[in-house]
Amino acid sequence: MTLTTVAYHAGWLVDGTGNAAEENRVIVVCDGRVRHVLDVDDPKLQGTTIVDLSDCTVFPALIDSHVHLVMSGTTEASCRKNQLNSGYEKRKSIIAEHLERHFDCGVLAVRDGGDHNGDTLRYKTETAEVPGAKVTIASAGRARHAPGRYGKLIGIPVEEGRTIAQNAFGSNTRRDHLKLVNSGLNSLTQFGVETPPQFDETELMAAISAAKKHGQPTMVHANGRLPVKLAVNAGCDSIEHGFFMGEENMRRMADKGVTWVPTAVTMKAYINYLKRQGHRSDPSFGEISRKNLEHQLAQINAARELGVALALGTDAGSPGVHHGTSVKEELQLYITAGFSVEGAIRCASRNGALLMRLSDRGKIAPGMRADFMAVRVPVEQVPDALNQIVCRVVQGRNIKTNVND
Ligand SMILES: [Zn+2]
Repeated sequence: MTLTTVAYHAGWLVDGTGNAAEENRVIVVCDGRVRHVLDVDDPKLQGTTIVDLSDCTVFPALIDSHVHLVMSGTTEASCRKNQLNSGYEKRKSIIAEHLERHFDCGVLAVRDGGDHNGDTLRYKTETAEVPGAKVTIASAGRARHAPGRYGKLIGIPVEEGRTIAQNAFGSNTRRDHLKLVNSGLNSLTQFGVETPPQFDETELMAAISAAKKHGQPTMVHANGRLPVKLAVNAGCDSIEHGFFMGEENMRRMADKGVTWVPTAVTMKAYINYLKRQGHRSDPSFGEISRKNLEHQLAQINAARELGVALALGTDAGSPGVHHGTSVKEELQLYITAGFSVEGAIRCASRNGALLMRLSDRGKIAPGMRADFMAVRVPVEQVPDALNQIVCRVVQGRNIKTNVND
């Protein structure tokens, strides 16, 4: 069998490593993988079909490292409630719809942070064998939280008298990663309030090492200095949110190679949501959300300077945080915080792939899976153009090419 080779001439190539974009590079694709990345005048290209994307920026398929697929970003309370109380068949169609929204924005992998019914894991299990599944899902199933503490929407409590490890690795241990909740939510009425940890370091450590034995990484929801410190010391793979975690924790994370998923867009969504609520809410809520966002952007820049690995995650499914389009907003926030476009894209591609253990994903380089997107704008406008993708290559297949539009 002869394999078809197709080449794509990128006007600008952002390869996912964080390196500066390169002009006029040609990506040669064969058998679903990138075979070479060459200069446009390389003699190896003779006789190869070349798709002209010379007026486009090409970047790797994106990864949203923190979503809740069964929940929508709607801010209608009744609608949110209905979604959670409707039957699985309805919720299954909601998940499928959200995956389409991710695909529209160039996202080909999502890491789910859990839901109360374990719907996303069930969906993944049921659809795993369906050919043509475009978006890869890694699912936590149900998160684990302490009794009486925050976490019901995304998981279940660990019963009194049992350890997390006994609860999570008793009978059903099937999941892609373990999700633990180790703090509360951010206060929207008082700036910078830190909630106590839900678990102690010994208990976290036992849970994380049980997860490791099952080949599962651990993601920990933690805001505030102490909850983050305990999770990092206990050996978690990633800190989710990390609002008000402070610089000492960032140094610890850089040292130990713990990834941070800051979900800054959740605070931007609250500002917009509360604005729309007008007189119905306390006007100080919007002010606190704005201060939380500013504080988080300063932390993002500090983490970048300290060499912490950041993976872009949105918490899509939270109020006002929509699947797919919020990736665009989070990328824009990284850039506002101090990242280059290339650096922000690395967080939304290669760093996410490493966190999800998708070793052949997240960058455009020889041997990697050929997953990339093109937008007809220069590099600096890529985040703004995420919903105007003109060419999508998924596992080497050109799904849509409107290069002559
Ligand atoms: Zn979440």
